[in-house]
Amino acid sequence: QEQTFLAIKPDAVQRGLIGPIITRFERRGYKLRAIKLIVPDRSLLEKHYDEHKGKPFFEKLVGFMGSGPVCAMVWEGKDVVKTGRAMLGATNPLNSAPGTIRGDYGIDLGRNVCHGSDSVDSAKYEINLWFQPTEIQ
Ligand code: ATP
Repeated sequence: QEQTFLAIKPDAVQRGLIGPIITRFERRGYKLRAIKLIVPDRSLLEKHYDEHKGKPFFEKLVGFMGSGPVCAMVWEGKDVVKTGRAMLGATNPLNSAPGTIRGDYGIDLGRNVCHGSDSVDSAKYEINLWFQPTEIQ
């Protein structure tokens, strides 16, 4: 079965949004395979956001993502990568449709609530980066 990596960002963890986000994925029929709270260190975030290294917002992004606990998860199910992205909505909450996670809870481009893998390959890379195999059920 296909798997994806989701990370609820620090501001959303602090705002108490873990429950509502998990509920949406459970109601959609997806299976939670791994979950933990982690304050990601710089080395982890540089690997996770490798494609953005050198961009003007990179330092702000890494600083924000390391500013508190992130809720890292592995979800499994049919087409979960693509459907998960659709459930998140557009990257910028100003453009994300009502009914999507970012459209309902997002504040701005930085504080956009949740990350989700954008392809099956990046899901594999990110799951392997954030989790040990023994942490996945
Ligand atoms: P994510 O990787 O978080 O799921 P995404 O794949 O939809 O988001 P990317 O273009 O990969 O979007 O950007 C990664 C993250 O970097 C975004 O979620 C956003 O928080 C942040 N970001 C992107 N562009 C900017 C920008 N111009 N200014 C500030 N933050 C940005």
